[in-house]
Amino acid sequence: MTENNDLWFDPSKCLINGEWVAPVGGEYLALENPSTGEVIGQIARGQAADIDAAVGAAQAARDGEWGRWSALQRGRMLTELGRLVLTKTEELARLEAQDVGKPLKQARADAIALARYLEFYGGAADKLHGETIPYLEGYTVYTLREPHGVTGHIVPWNYPMQIIGRSVGAALATGNACVLKPAEDACLTALAFADLARQVGLPAGALNVVPGLGGEAGAALTGHGGVNHISFTGSVMTGSMVQASAAKNVVPVTLELGGKSPQIVFEDADIDAALPFLVNAGIQNAGQTCSASSRILIHKNVYDQVVERMAARYGELRVGPAMDDLDVGPLISAKQKGIIDGFLDLGSDLEAAGRGVLENAPDGGNYVRPTLFAGVDAHHALAQDEIFGPVQVAIAFEDEAEALAIANGTDYGLVASVWTANGARQMRMAKAIRSGQVFINNYGAGGGVELPFGGVGKSGHGREKGFEALYGFTTLKTVAAYHG
Ligand code: NAD
Repeated sequence: MTENNDLWFDPSKCLINGEWVAPVGGEYLALENPSTGEVIGQIARGQAADIDAAVGAAQAARDGEWGRWSALQRGRMLTELGRLVLTKTEELARLEAQDVGKPLKQARADAIALARYLEFYGGAADKLHGETIPYLEGYTVYTLREPHGVTGHIVPWNYPMQIIGRSVGAALATGNACVLKPAEDACLTALAFADLARQVGLPAGALNVVPGLGGEAGAALTGHGGVNHISFTGSVMTGSMVQASAAKNVVPVTLELGGKSPQIVFEDADIDAALPFLVNAGIQNAGQTCSASSRILIHKNVYDQVVERMAARYGELRVGPAMDDLDVGPLISAKQKGIIDGFLDLGSDLEAAGRGVLENAPDGGNYVRPTLFAGVDAHHALAQDEIFGPVQVAIAFEDEAEALAIANGTDYGLVASVWTANGARQMRMAKAIRSGQVFINNYGAGGGVELPFGGVGKSGHGREKGFEALYGFTTLKTVAAYHG
């Protein structure tokens, strides 16, 4: 079915209760290779009945063998799974390249990050503990960190491996039983991962995977009364629906949504050091990154120099099929290409300071030229809306106050960076920027397994990654014992 002929799992099935099963409705969705537009296989079109079976299996796992595993056992299993993922880096990267259109070296980095999440959460599993609380005379009071029970995980197509690592990894480390609904556009590595987990001895039902459409399998999962927590990564519009659906069952939700993340370059910045970060954080994964830096705010005294140097880099960017492993691959789908083309049209009267080069790009693939727009007004749609393609805007500012107002002037707040040698300004800006993460003299698009990550405003709420995720995937019980 794919260029990778030695698949160790059946990509057209769901994994429920440790078994590969066909979807109950017997319907399938076509899987396209974004580099060529060719159909490379089919995946299950899971429905409410499949989700119901998966939630039932997860409940049984929670109440059965999996629920009795110690934190040490869970940690060892995750660590071993991480090692197995590392040995499969090349196969996973090739699957992702074909499925998502991600250039091979970026797909390889995702597989390595997945292994790193498993290693991190494997090591952390038995380090999470409650506290004792001094209370009234005659009492001993302590808290217990307990799993929610059944956790639902809804994942987008842009970084399946990394997002599964950070959410399913942390949920399993804390003893939850998971139901994963990968994106309809990209679910091969999710299925591959679940089978690897089975191979290292994860008990049946602890991780179930049901591919399918968002409005069908996804909605069935978020509305299911047997789910105790939902981790959603995706668009603002869907996130809002997911939260409303979960609210009906009074279920907590973590929302990791979009962004319009700025990098702010002051006139005293080390521009040589900043330059690779300025461009790469915008074009990584063809700009289809929630933490992409799509706004470059530049002090007026260095504006021309920075834009010129960024444009030169844009002129060198090579765009082509994922397997050619160039700088930029195709977009995920023809639909996404249509959206990006619309944004590029919006900037037709603006100065396009740089354009990438299409290389050996098949007609059926979803390619666009990476584009840097210069001299963009901070209120222009290109500077306000999440584009989710390889498009950046350069905006000039006069002083620190204006830089801050522009940085905080969108609905989002996911990631930001400040490039300046002035220590006091670094501290002032880091405090005043409204964002889940602020980087000083660097930019960590997509990286940082150990670093809590999440948004404010329309970028979402709740935190994943790092130790913080372990708090999110547990609930706290207070025990107050009176012994006189
Ligand atoms: P999307 O919201 O369309 O889909 C995300 C997932 O939600 C998919 O699995 C989809 O099937 C499912 N879904 C769709 N409708 C649903 C419904 N009614 N009920 C339940 N599930 C449903 O988003 P997308 O286009 O796949 O991803 C792009 C968006 O994701 C961008 O806005 C991007 O910024 C965001 N994103 C955020 C992060 C983050 O960590 N903050 C990471 C990656 C992507």
